[in-house]
Amino acid sequence: MGKIEKVSDRLKRISVSQTLEMARRSMELREKGVDIIDLSIGQPDFKTPAHIKEAAKRAIDNDYTFYSPVAGFKELRQAIVDKFKNENNLDFDLNQIVVSNGAKQAIANVIMTLVDHDDEILVPVPYWVSYGEIINLAHGKNVFLPTDVEDDYKVSPKQIRAAITENTRVFIFSSPSNPAGSVYSKKELREIAEVISENENLYVISDEIYEHINFSGKHESIAQFDFIKDKVIVINGVSKGYAMTGWRLGYMAAPKWIADNCFKLQGQYTSGASSISQMAALEAISSEDNIYTLGMNAAFKRRRDLIIELISNIKGFRTNTPQGAFYVFPNISEFFGKSDGYIMIKNASDLAMYLLNEAHVAVVPGSAFGDPDCIRFSFATSRDKIKEAFKRIKSALEGLQV
Ligand code: PMP
Ligand code: GLU
Repeated sequence: MGKIEKVSDRLKRISVSQTLEMARRSMELREKGVDIIDLSIGQPDFKTPAHIKEAAKRAIDNDYTFYSPVAGFKELRQAIVDKFKNENNLDFDLNQIVVSNGAKQAIANVIMTLVDHDDEILVPVPYWVSYGEIINLAHGKNVFLPTDVEDDYKVSPKQIRAAITENTRVFIFSSPSNPAGSVYSKKELREIAEVISENENLYVISDEIYEHINFSGKHESIAQFDFIKDKVIVINGVSKGYAMTGWRLGYMAAPKWIADNCFKLQGQYTSGASSISQMAALEAISSEDNIYTLGMNAAFKRRRDLIIELISNIKGFRTNTPQGAFYVFPNISEFFGKSDGYIMIKNASDLAMYLLNEAHVAVVPGSAFGDPDCIRFSFATSRDKIKEAFKRIKSALEGLQV
């Protein structure tokens, strides 16, 4: 008897993560001996600080090796409550915090909790790669809100108001944003909050994972406005700010009924996050020593300045100047229709493949983020590598003619 390999309709609705896919491809080429410079995946190249690693080692020695409470250890949730108070002047109760396996799971928990078949979710474009796909998994309907490089890739309150229907459930965005590095000001957030507050069905997922990588000043959260506080779910985690991507530790602060339902889902799906990672995150979040974080931020800012200068030397790249996170997202559509005599560049994916094969530089095509005219560079790598990457990119692009 043969076998039928039938994948569920649910999974057919989503595609492979293109950020992780480009990182996988560049790793594969590197293993074959090709000297790849990877500007694809977004993760700090810094090591997790020693005091955090020590806390994890202590956790193992102290037998933090059992299942953890689904919502996270009480000490960690208290540290998160304190962090919100001290860093963001936001008041949350312990029972509003759910710790998850990365911010990614926290986002998935909330979307699965709030979104039913054909509910509409407003997603400014460009968006982080997994928002659209998690929404697809939940059978929600992505309503994409286009933005422009001239507007720093930010969505306006007017656009949000115009897109709202009786089926709109969620507005999801990140500030600082991935992939464009946009940072919304307090005034812009207030104006968006006012639109949200006009609609009783509508909730905001505010993804603040890049809070600590901000070149424009103090981080502002949309949850600060009392008149929508009970409609905002704040997402955060330790991946970016503390160089802890592999520890898989994120969290949310949500209205209690949402936190309760995320707790229910997570309890059936994955249980509490790794007990060792939780103790490491406790050290990261509650430590007074944030010099490391500040140091990383300064290094990212210098790299941002460098990459913007290098991009400005390439004719045909048009970009905003990112104010946070560690990505730059130039429009590269001027290269469409050009060829090196063998390959015709028709879209951003073709250009990304061309750069991978010819320049040995890995980038992510903008289609992953909803904008097929752009490509994303991560500048979470050393200045020397960035310089070498752009030398190679420039020379590869010179080989393309109309
Ligand atoms: N949100 C955004 C905007 C991201 O770029 C990422 C990528 N790390 C995440 C969420 C998920 O982060 P985590 O590693 O905590 O799952
Ligand atoms: N958030 C990072 C990125 O956008 C990590 C990869 C991922 O989780 O998608 O590259």
